[in-house]
Amino acid sequence: MVKTRELYYEDAYTYKFDAMVLSCKEGKGGTFFVILDQTAFFPEQGGQSSDVGVIEDENGTSIKVTHTSIKDGIITHVTDAPLREGTKVTGRIDWGHRFSNMQQHTGEHIFSGIVHSEFGYDNVGFHLSDSEVTMDYSGPLNADDIKALEIKANRAIWENIEVQCTFPSKEELDKLEYRSKKELTGDVRIVTIPGYDVCACCAPHVSTTAEIGFLKVVSFQAYKGGVRVSILCGKRALGYIQDEHDILSEISRSLTTSADKVMDSVTKMREENHELKGKLIEAQEKLLEYELQAIDKNLSDVFLVKDSGMDGNLMRKTVNALAAEHGGYCGVFSGTDESGYKYIVATGAEGKELKALQDVLKEKFGAKGGGNTAMIQGSIGAVVMGEVLSELGKL
Ligand SMILES: [Zn+2]
Repeated sequence: MVKTRELYYEDAYTYKFDAMVLSCKEGKGGTFFVILDQTAFFPEQGGQSSDVGVIEDENGTSIKVTHTSIKDGIITHVTDAPLREGTKVTGRIDWGHRFSNMQQHTGEHIFSGIVHSEFGYDNVGFHLSDSEVTMDYSGPLNADDIKALEIKANRAIWENIEVQCTFPSKEELDKLEYRSKKELTGDVRIVTIPGYDVCACCAPHVSTTAEIGFLKVVSFQAYKGGVRVSILCGKRALGYIQDEHDILSEISRSLTTSADKVMDSVTKMREENHELKGKLIEAQEKLLEYELQAIDKNLSDVFLVKDSGMDGNLMRKTVNALAAEHGGYCGVFSGTDESGYKYIVATGAEGKELKALQDVLKEKFGAKGGGNTAMIQGSIGAVVMGEVLSELGKL
């Protein structure tokens, strides 16, 4: 079969086209594989997800195209209904989806071009899906670098530069310096953004940089000795900023402060929270002291059950205080029957083997925990505490 004519290389803005159905084969689950003589549907390749849209059959019925792929120059459209071989059809790509991909991809070239010229890093990974745009670079970047790069990339957008897509001859290519992810064979397509980037690339691009709208870096993290940067462009970037702005507005409303003072308010709240926690623990400690004093010193195997979320240190202190005064097992369970319990158990004066107790908690009540011969700790999911205590009473 002859290679599919790739209309997106002739004009990246072709969203509607006529074509002839060369073949249609049934796949699994009600899908069909359709090959046309020419198409504007850009197939999944080079890290970019494929175009989607519809093909209208000879009767004008719209058939969904859910995916497009390319192999040996032949492009296959995955559809949800068959098309008759030899008939003329009209393809219509989802232009909103495609234009967004063009905005993201050209934005990526600008960003990667600047990273390359300023830091000498290569773009060693690229992923453009409907939910994210990520680039992996071969060296590290810090927060200041990222901010400066973001401003420069946006400057390239404001400059409204023409994006040039060409297929240079072998001789021209040999003389050209361009970014490329792998050694390319066959016709190499070069995408040039004068002053910012020259890169081998197979994807459709916007015709001028201003069409990108703007570019926002949404995150970056160390990745395989380099850095992974996530960006958004155009409408997607605007949507992201709008969502973040809504969240910030909601938080400042609830803290009754202005957006620029939100961080101060949060810091103050955290400090107050820390202070209150300290006071709460102090009060709990005092209360426990009275409680412990009230327990008959002659009792052994003493288990306290507290329904408040008790601080781990306070639990340990309490267990030690109990073990100093009582024989047998001395333990504290903190939690509720519904949410489960944290526990710490030690052995009192005359000593009892803790492993037996830990085994019962694990085997009968699904507890998770560890410890040593002097003290064990762990947690149990939802249980009836009365049953747990009655089992432990048998030991
Ligand atoms: Zn590219």
